[in-house]
Amino acid sequence: MQGDSELVDKILSLKRERNAVILAHNYQLGEIQDIADFVGDSLELSQNAAKTKAEVIVFCGVHFMAETASILCPDKAVLLPDINAGCPMADMVTAERLRQRKRELPEASVVCYINSSAEVKAESDVCCTSANAVKVIESLDNEEILFVPDQYLGHYVSTKTDKKMNLWPGYCSTHVRIQPQDITRLKQEYPQAKVVIHPECRPEVIALADEVLSTGGMIRYARREDVSEMVVGTEIGIIHRLRKENPGKKFIPISEQAICPKMKLITLEKVLWSLEEMRPQVKVPEATRLRAKTAVDRMLAVV
Ligand code: SF4
Repeated sequence: MQGDSELVDKILSLKRERNAVILAHNYQLGEIQDIADFVGDSLELSQNAAKTKAEVIVFCGVHFMAETASILCPDKAVLLPDINAGCPMADMVTAERLRQRKRELPEASVVCYINSSAEVKAESDVCCTSANAVKVIESLDNEEILFVPDQYLGHYVSTKTDKKMNLWPGYCSTHVRIQPQDITRLKQEYPQAKVVIHPECRPEVIALADEVLSTGGMIRYARREDVSEMVVGTEIGIIHRLRKENPGKKFIPISEQAICPKMKLITLEKVLWSLEEMRPQVKVPEATRLRAKTAVDRMLAVV
């Protein structure tokens, strides 16, 4: 059995040999974040994938993120170290069901959360992330929107816009576990702490937040001088980065239940194996890719 430092050395040397870049989502295990060239939220990772000069992208995240990298960089090899790392929310909408709903709402513009498959993106007018959803929707001329798949992000956006929002009934199986009583309890225990909540949470949880932010937004918020204690209302993987970047500040996970098992499938061993064997690779078929890219490019033009 290899120790972590031996694994890390092998990964870093193979990464150089393959001319690879390692991108990791804020929810990844701490040891994965520590070997990544870049750690960020979905928007930051897709922007980074779009501009990298590396020939290989090792995507430490879930399947739709690797697909987004493949959509933006068709000439690069995109590795997802565990092909079973899918997002349950993304699986709650299929292209076929979306086409059916579009027929029922022919006037609506389709906005898909980036947490969706390439095929769903190909059926959409524009893509968005939790960091830019309000801005993207406000940028559209159309007054009627069909928003897929996250009903809770969609609901949050509907409180910030006058557009008519038709919401798909999807949800994140990790963020729905966060309960309002988690916040009430922590507010009593840490009265000075700022409560920061991800917009994938339920409305009754969001109602108790001091700030509603994407994970990238949380990272920036934590750097503020007036923030010394923060209740972190999202997947607990982000706590590793918050503590690492802000020594001396206190970060309190909102709930031990807020763990995404799919994000945790990526391990150091699997990253090494993927670089050794150059698989599993994620490649979006060209016809789908071109249509999906239009939706992603429209988003990237707004932000
Ligand atoms: S945290 Fe939620 S939205 Fe993110 S990958 Fe896991 S299930 Fe999907």
